[in-house]
Amino acid sequence: MGHPPTGAAALSYVMTNKHEVPRTMGQQAGRRSWAEPWKIKMVEPLTMTDRPTRERAMAEAGYNTFLLRSTDVYIDLLTDSGTSAMSDRQWAGMMVGDEAYAGSENFYHLETAIQTYYGYKYLVPTHQGRGAENLISRTEIKPGQYVPGNMYFTTTRLHQEMAGGIFVDVICDEAHDPTNRNAFKGNVDLGKLDALVKEHGADKIAYVSLGATVNMAGGQPVSMANVKALRTWGDKHGIKIYLDATRAVENAFFIQERETGYAGRKIAEILKEFCSYTDGAWMSAKKDSLVNIGGWVAVNSWEVFEELRNLVVVFEGLHTYGGLAGRDMEAMAIGTAESVQDDHIRARIGQVRYLGGLLEKWGVPMMEPIGGHAIFLDARRFYPQLKQDDFAAQTLAAQLYLDSGIRTMERGIVSAGRNAKTGDHYRPKLELTRLTIPRRVYTQAHMDVVAESVKAVYEQRESVKGLKMVYEPKYLRFFQARFEPL
Ligand SMILES: *Cc1c(COP(=O)(O)O)cnc(C)c1O
Repeated sequence: MGHPPTGAAALSYVMTNKHEVPRTMGQQAGRRSWAEPWKIKMVEPLTMTDRPTRERAMAEAGYNTFLLRSTDVYIDLLTDSGTSAMSDRQWAGMMVGDEAYAGSENFYHLETAIQTYYGYKYLVPTHQGRGAENLISRTEIKPGQYVPGNMYFTTTRLHQEMAGGIFVDVICDEAHDPTNRNAFKGNVDLGKLDALVKEHGADKIAYVSLGATVNMAGGQPVSMANVKALRTWGDKHGIKIYLDATRAVENAFFIQERETGYAGRKIAEILKEFCSYTDGAWMSAKKDSLVNIGGWVAVNSWEVFEELRNLVVVFEGLHTYGGLAGRDMEAMAIGTAESVQDDHIRARIGQVRYLGGLLEKWGVPMMEPIGGHAIFLDARRFYPQLKQDDFAAQTLAAQLYLDSGIRTMERGIVSAGRNAKTGDHYRPKLELTRLTIPRRVYTQAHMDVVAESVKAVYEQRESVKGLKMVYEPKYLRFFQARFEPL
């Protein structure tokens, strides 16, 4: 395994390959190996199961990996959300929780951390990302307004719709093609934004909802040039830009690696510059910020802040705790600072690429190039015999669990849900199964085991049939839907 290229090496391929990412990246020969910038102080035993046990567990869970008990799971790649290992410093921070109802000291630590690393003026903590999405959507969307975004995210779009907004996808076309190797597949297509303004007028647009990286597109990054252009566009039309900052640190890594002029810059600097082109952000701190629970929304406008601060007491708790314990805010403040360390982020994304590199070598079809937080297997190419309505990605997640006890997640037609007006399935072009890597949790040997299991399932792909949905909840159905084998 090798270094993700940085510095001059990164720059040269950006210029010579028309912004395409070469397949050998992360596997360069002749360079020394890197290792994680930490060692392990405490371990948590894992359970290993046999195939009959897994078959029983999968049937009981209705072939939905969200409904498995975690004790029946061996390597858990369901999500990188709230599954990170905290550092000894963060655990020490838990002991200095100031559990006052109002004005907790830990809130002020968190506020300083967000101002320092993200650069926004006013902070409102929330229990997790969707709490923040609820507040910003209610504050900034008038019923009937459009909310353009660079690909939907499940909870984000639902909160925008519940506030009366209409989500419109304005991501570049390349993002919908799993084999396109463009370096910044998360970019917004400004032509699509122009068309939206032309059709409806600027006052019918609530704001631009910018995700960086883009989870549903495979953890693909947005370039600094793109967010800068968005800022100019927003100023011209009087439209605000709000950032889903959930994985903005990972996004900064790709800018450092791929974008001209950023090779020598620190991740922390790049992150702050990126945020400076936006009017505010919401955050699931359970991802980049290395905590098990927590989130926030932060803005530069005092008026918007006043509204958010007022609403948070209705839905989450007082504005100096937002549904969190003081100790949680302390762990988040420390985790925020740790998350922007260059060594940390390089090892984090390096591990994702290590796994992806093995699968690339074996010809397993996946979303390319490899993104920040996960490997997304391309279920359409994996199971060409299955129709999208046979739930190919859901089937693949079930097969991986049956093979080895590793738990993954569907990101295809089940996650996309239904159009509330027509009642039809949303049919996304991407039908993916996500192998999400928790931060600082698993070793390289675990990645080897995962890769070998994917290979085994790939070798048996021809005999596999799909699933049918037998129970469908109304909201965010992927969490609780149940299936049966066809
Ligand atoms: C996880 C996530 C959210 C929602 O955050 P929660 O903490 O799960 O409520 C929002 N946006 C993106 C991109 C996410 O990955």
